[in-house]
Amino acid sequence: MLIDQYNKVKENVKKACQKAGRDPRDVTIIAVSKTKPLEMIEELRKEKVMDFGENKVQELKEKYEKISWPVRWHLIGHLQTNKVKYIVDKVALIHSVDSVHLAKQIDKEAAKRQMKEVPVLIQVNFAHEDTKFGLASEETEDVIREIASMEHVKVKGLMQIAPFVDDPEENRKYFRAMKQLSVDIENKKIDNVDMSILSMGMTNDYEVAVEEGATMIRVGTGIFGERNYSI
Ligand SMILES: *Cc1c(COP(=O)(O)O)cnc(C)c1O
Repeated sequence: MLIDQYNKVKENVKKACQKAGRDPRDVTIIAVSKTKPLEMIEELRKEKVMDFGENKVQELKEKYEKISWPVRWHLIGHLQTNKVKYIVDKVALIHSVDSVHLAKQIDKEAAKRQMKEVPVLIQVNFAHEDTKFGLASEETEDVIREIASMEHVKVKGLMQIAPFVDDPEENRKYFRAMKQLSVDIENKKIDNVDMSILSMGMTNDYEVAVEEGATMIRVGTGIFGERNYSI
């Protein structure tokens, strides 16, 4: 049963929280359902799991339209400006904003739909891998200041996709750096910006991420099993 896998993750989160002196209620597990069928999402939803992550706009949109019960959808993958219009009113949180240009488009589409605000996270790339999206940590504050002036976009925190490593300890420094950056930005007291969410940690390294302050972890394989991209 999927819920057993989910509960195992929850148990591990609890242990990591105990180790770090944190409250497990401050950590949201996002079940990353990309490539997985709707039936699997509904199986978890029946057990009151509410937060699901998708990395592709088209897939999120299809699942949104077909699912029998409402859930909180998280867009965790790269978002192209021309696709904002398909999901802006369907997601609880966009984790992957990494440019002023993209935020402007979100603001524009939200205004069109008379949405009060669209909560977003700013994606930062601490490992400086050129294959991944995300801002350099040095430019993050300036970008956030610009986005803060937009009426319909609300910055709620930071997100990172850490490198894929065998030993999760190798990513601890990146998680710690993101926590520090969020504290630094919080201390600037920028209007219309809060830093309450830190989205970091995946199947391989979520325990370390929780120890370092993650408030959202994105777990796919650890709940749904391996993904098959060939079908
Ligand atoms: C796929 C994906 C995840 C989940 O990865 P797992 O290793 O399967 O847990 C998390 N975050 C993002 C952005 C992803 O694309």
